[in-house]
Amino acid sequence: MKDWRIFPWQNTQWQQMVHCQQTGNLAHAYLLRGVPGTGKLQFAKALSAYLLCMNPQTTGACGHCKECELLKAGTHPDFTLVEPDDPGRPIRIDRIRKLNEFAHKTAQQGGRRVIILNPAEAMNVNAANALLKCLEEPGDDTVFLLVSARSGDMLPTIRSRCQQLNFATPNRADAEQWLASQLEDSSRVVQLLDLTANAPLEAKRFADQGLLEKRATLADGLKGLFKGKVTPVELAKTWQSEDLVLTISWIMGWLDDAVKLSLNGSPSDLRNRDQLKMLEYLARKCDARTLLQERDWLMSQRQSLLEGGNLNPQMLMEGVFCRCLDWVL
Ligand SMILES: [Zn+2]
Repeated sequence: MKDWRIFPWQNTQWQQMVHCQQTGNLAHAYLLRGVPGTGKLQFAKALSAYLLCMNPQTTGACGHCKECELLKAGTHPDFTLVEPDDPGRPIRIDRIRKLNEFAHKTAQQGGRRVIILNPAEAMNVNAANALLKCLEEPGDDTVFLLVSARSGDMLPTIRSRCQQLNFATPNRADAEQWLASQLEDSSRVVQLLDLTANAPLEAKRFADQGLLEKRATLADGLKGLFKGKVTPVELAKTWQSEDLVLTISWIMGWLDDAVKLSLNGSPSDLRNRDQLKMLEYLARKCDARTLLQERDWLMSQRQSLLEGGNLNPQMLMEGVFCRCLDWVL
């Protein structure tokens, strides 16, 4: 049951939950919150398995009992994972309404019911109010696990009905050890963790999806723009169908480092040391104040994307690359 085990850096939270279970102090709702890419969803799954298992060990579900078999097969009648139909979109309200029914029926296996919501902030106001109703009148032996990297965007009344479980990024040594064990080529472990602010799962996603290469392509595109080899409109055409939140985050990361350089920071303080020449060029062309203003503007664009704003991707990226060009004119 690999997907139903916690990560090595989640032991503290795990011990806390095992203690609650063993002493009969389980709350009916938990909010698993913290930075993305640290494995909160997998922790929620491991906890679900542990809470449903007939022979739970302190390290997790047994993996062999009938309950565990049903979970592995994806057919456990007392477990449900609620997610948006498409990543980045809200969870549909009818899925939340069905939860109320689910939370109040008798558990078919005679034990608990466990509900995971991921990500818990991805709801419109009506869906959030429907969830609030579920949390106000939970069925007996129902446990809600709400997973969120942006819990500040949730209704305060939902947050206050949950016990909070906080997840930080692991220490660097643990992150490096785990990531090295996951990759065939471990030579990029340091760079991957630098670029993902030490979030191991995000670092693994970068490796699996070739995102280091994609980021290098973006840097080459910007250099081409600065040298007049490509126009903002042309560059926007090649990037408008990409993950725009990530693309903008990369440019923001470069601006952060250029700010450090323009304030006489040392190259060893940078997260994007592989792009040192471009960053030094930006720091020469713009003062720190301008760079920070540009970074704020990019952040507001990224925020609109995260909130599901109806931005035209081509127009947005043209705007971004036009501003990039202005930095060096
Ligand atoms: Zn079991």
